[in-house]
Amino acid sequence: MTEPTAVCSVCGVHRDSAGPVDAMAWVRETEDGRTRWLCPRCARDHLRDIEGKLPAGYW
Ligand SMILES: [Zn+2]
Repeated sequence: MTEPTAVCSVCGVHRDSAGPVDAMAWVRETEDGRTRWLCPRCARDHLRDIEGKLPAGYW
């Protein structure tokens, strides 16, 4: 089974354009049955966002 080309959902870079090592570092998220990909760079930023996010209801 061949997966469709993964595209970073943040910056839109194609996973195919990354080297094999970088391709391994891509983060795959499944949300409501849909697959989202994050390139290593965006994944790092994304994680920081999650960690830095204030809990809902804080306001
Ligand atoms: Zn990206």
